[in-house]
Formats: sequence, structure tokens, C-alpha cells
Amino acid sequence: MKSVVSFYDLKQEILEKIRENGGWVNAHAHLDRAYTITEENFKLVNSKRHEKWMLNAAIRKSSTVESIYARIAKSLELMISQGVAATISYIDTTPDVQDKAIKAAQKARDVYKSQMQIKYICLPAYGVLTKEKKEWFDIGAEFADLIGSTLKTDSPHESEHLEIVLQKAKDMKKMVHIHVDELNIPDEHETELLAKKTIEFGMQGKVVGIHGISLNARPKQERERIYTLMHKAKMIMVACPISWIDGWRSEVLTPTHNSVTPADEMTAFGIPVAIGIDNLYDIFKPMNDGNMWNDLRLLMEANRWFDIDEIVKVATVNGRRALGIT
Ligand SMILES: [Zn+2]
Repeated sequence: MKSVVSFYDLKQEILEKIRENGGWVNAHAHLDRAYTITEENFKLVNSKRHEKWMLNAAIRKSSTVESIYARIAKSLELMISQGVAATISYIDTTPDVQDKAIKAAQKARDVYKSQMQIKYICLPAYGVLTKEKKEWFDIGAEFADLIGSTLKTDSPHESEHLEIVLQKAKDMKKMVHIHVDELNIPDEHETELLAKKTIEFGMQGKVVGIHGISLNARPKQERERIYTLMHKAKMIMVACPISWIDGWRSEVLTPTHNSVTPADEMTAFGIPVAIGIDNLYDIFKPMNDGNMWNDLRLLMEANRWFDIDEIVKVATVNGRRALGIT
């Protein structure tokens, strides 16, 4: 018997609006290292962060162009199956992987470009401050659509690192994506440094921060000061809610918050927020199945933020801005 009672299906409403607005945009991922979790390395899942970096180094060394291509292709098919219209992925460009990931990524784009817009960012995963690392950064920057890095890779020389990365992007007229403030701790100040350096280099509107979670751990007045600075720098922020929902317990006292990018507050300050899946079935996130809806839902729920028009922008137009797609 057909029911006469109808129910409000909020999820379907949001998904329909995302379709009407051009489809999902995945604004952050590491597809060259996706699907690298194995029965063997899963035993190391509780290792310390630097030990996982060592494991990734071993994966980079032992991977072939074919194995990296297979990982990217499987990830892209997962995105296409969800109606993702555009995706970006970091591609490691380091002395250990050399140009294997670049070659695999180029092949994957050739195969899948008719089904989805695909952009790549170079990732100098060990920093840029030695001659050899810088050489591979330069090679990666030539290949990539956008320039990228992780600020912490050259800690405590973050300013020097940023100056090299921003100058390169400025010279090549490319946008920049930088991992910042990932650890959900009050003494990370990377988003603020990125905003200041963006203005110093005249790169307003060209710089995207990835994560920005630690802003949550600062007092409201501090957060608002930094949001004002980010707005002045015309920064975009990408949230990857599932990827850092596992932030560690700590005895450090901070304002009460969830370890998810404060997208509601940033949006109120005029900072566009986009969304990405980040790590997919790898040693950092062995359970992450790359489901865009789950990430968007967590962003809404963790921030108690249900402004549907803004949420649809997070999934679509803000992502296109972060990817430099007009
Ligand atoms: Zn990342």
C-alpha cells in the first residue's frame, strides 16, 4: 500500500542541489598513495606519525609507474561513481619516488579526462631546503597545475620554506595549496603565517590552506583576528573532516571544540571553504572510503552548521575556486 505520509529527505535535497551546481568537487587528496594499506602494513596502524612517514617512504621507493597508476585510476573511478565532477590530487615529487608518480598521474589524466576534470599539485613531501629536494620540487612544479607543500616538512624553518614555495608559484603564475594547522593544538600558527606571507608576496586570491584545524584551539578573539587576516589575504580553506577526526586526546586545555575545520566561522568572515577526502585507504587512514557525503555530513554536524546554500557551495563552487577552475 502506498504511504500517504511524506518525509523530509534533507540528504537528497542537498545531493540534488550539488548536482544542479555542477557536481561534487574533491579539493584535497593524495591519490598516488591511495589503496596502499595491506594486511601486512595494517599491523603498523598504531605506529607513531614519523614511523608512518618512513613506511610511506618505503612505498614511494618500491612503487612502479604501473602500481601508482593503478592506485590513481581506482581512486578516480571511486570519485566518478559518486558524481564528482572535478578532483585535485597531490602527487609526490621527491628524491625517492622521482618521476614515477608524475608519469602515472599524466597517464591517469589522459585516460579519465573525458569523465572528470583532474588537477595535480606537486608535493615535495620532505621539504624544499636541500639541493636535491629543491631539484625535485622544481621538476614537480613544472609538471603540476598548482604548487603545493606541507609547511611542517621544513620545521622550524617554515618562513624560509614558504618563501621558496610562494616565489616559485608567483614566478610560474600558479595557485598554491599548503597543509597548515593540522594537529589541533594551540601552539600551531601556520595558517596565520601563511596569510601573512600571502600578503607579503602579493599572492592574494591564489593561496589555499588545507585543514586549518588548530585555529579551533585558540581563543575566539585570536580566531577572529586570524580570520580577518585570512580574508585580507583572500585565502580559501579546504576541510577534510574525516581525515583529522582522529586527532589525539590531550591534557592541554583549550576552548571546547571538535577537531574539524571551523567552516561556519570562516564562512561568516567571507573565507570560502571547500572539502576534500585527503587520505584514502592508506596507513594514515586505513578506513577512509573516500565518501564525499560522509565528509560533508561530518563538517555540518561537527560545526552544527546547516546553512544549506553555503554547504552546497562547499561541495561545489568553492572547490572549483580552490582548483582554479573558472
Ligand atoms: Zn593532505
